Amino acid sequence: MKIAAINKNDFINGEGVSVSVWIQGCPHHCKGCHNPEQWDFNGGEYINNWKLIDEVSEAITANGIQRNLSILGGEPFAPQNVNDTYQLLWHIKEKFPSIKTFVWTGYTLKQLQEMYEQELLENVDVLIDGRFELSKRDITLKLRGSSNQCILYKGTDF
Ligand code: SF4
Repeated sequence: MKIAAINKNDFINGEGVSVSVWIQGCPHHCKGCHNPEQWDFNGGEYINNWKLIDEVSEAITANGIQRNLSILGGEPFAPQNVNDTYQLLWHIKEKFPSIKTFVWTGYTLKQLQEMYEQELLENVDVLIDGRFELSKRDITLKLRGSSNQCILYKGTDF
């Protein structure tokens, strides 16, 4: 899969401390996007999926601290990325069922449900959905950049 970055001790994106993976490639091209260098599906760095799963697994429990997993982008659920994202979530949840997984997507939940099978979100605990809208930008919001975006919880919202 193509990734833009990994932060193995991220205190901002998620709850507590997370291992955060930024997936490369985004079709949304939101005005005011903070990561336009992550739009190009040919950019970023290629990493073998199994190597990434091993690297993330090691990072989740490094130094005796259990971390959550956050997946950002780019667009993790773009057609070019969706299978890799699903595989990463599936294997990490299988190894660490008690951790929380967070995914940021520019699609709305409704769009995802129209595009993909229901299984897509089976290993996602918290979904932050919707494109970044510059006119609705609000830096006081938790986990979101603009007020149109929603924080959605498994079992309650999907
Ligand atoms: S969805 Fe995110 S990464 Fe993609 S253009 Fe919008 S703000 Fe940027």
